[in-house]
Amino acid sequence: MTAELRVIATPIGNLGDLTPRAQQALATADLVLCEDTRHSGALLNHLGIKKPLWSLHAHNETGRIDSILHALAEGQVIALVSDAGTPCLSDPGAELVAAVRHAGYAVTSLPGPFAAAVALAASGMTPVPFAFWGFWAKKSGERRSQLQARLLPGPDGPMSHAFYVPGRDLDDVLADLVAVAPAAKVCVARELTKIHEGFWLGTAAEVAGRLGPEQLRGEAVVLVEISAKPAGHDKWSEAQLTEKIIESREAGHRAKHAVAGAKHQAGSRGRVVGSAK
Ligand code: SAM
Repeated sequence: MTAELRVIATPIGNLGDLTPRAQQALATADLVLCEDTRHSGALLNHLGIKKPLWSLHAHNETGRIDSILHALAEGQVIALVSDAGTPCLSDPGAELVAAVRHAGYAVTSLPGPFAAAVALAASGMTPVPFAFWGFWAKKSGERRSQLQARLLPGPDGPMSHAFYVPGRDLDDVLADLVAVAPAAKVCVARELTKIHEGFWLGTAAEVAGRLGPEQLRGEAVVLVEISAKPAGHDKWSEAQLTEKIIESREAGHRAKHAVAGAKHQAGSRGRVVGSAK
């Protein structure tokens, strides 16, 4: 077989999502590059495939490239997988793919799960255009300025934005969204393709109010749809503000979300992005 790099998507939770073509590509490769040899070893074991496994993760990708190019020079067929989903997308591999292309070897892509697309397809939110931002910044201040800069409508109408969020950060992330985009449509899609898959839709405050502690775990994609229509910036009267807060509290939202949401809808703090349709 001619040397090539095969970028292979693997399941994000449901083993049934590995395509027969991906299985065949793994079975006929000479070696498999993976983030975690134990994790991918278990997948190959499940498929009855035995291959040499080389680790390729965020901390060794650059250093691995020469030896991978050497293996390709020897005519080897190399498979690249990540722990879950499509390699290179918020996962290692992009630097390797660029280097392999630069060296003139073939690179082929075997499609499969990509959590952002899986979430978007079942969310009912605007699918095109959409922006994929990968992981959310860890620090709240940084995250809020990132959101202000990124959460924009599309040039011709609404646009959806997809972020990756580990479940334990969901609460903080929703609080930031209440502050930055209180009226935008939000979808939290968690544990996709798994037994406890779930979708929560509404404003950030509504979703935050509905997610229980058991849902603030696992893995999640957060989608935010920003409408083309800018939010109103009229200042509300104190009475309107209070009414909004009471309404939000009665709907079961936490106090800090209710207050922040009402203030931002009133346009009393910073720029408000998005608008409810
Ligand atoms: N490359 C992967 C892809 O194609 O989607 C993403 C890998 S990234 C390291 C892991 C993040 O993807 C998680 O923190 C979560 O935000 C999202 N993710 C992965 N699997 C998921 C699932 N089953 N349900 C919801 N989100 C998931």
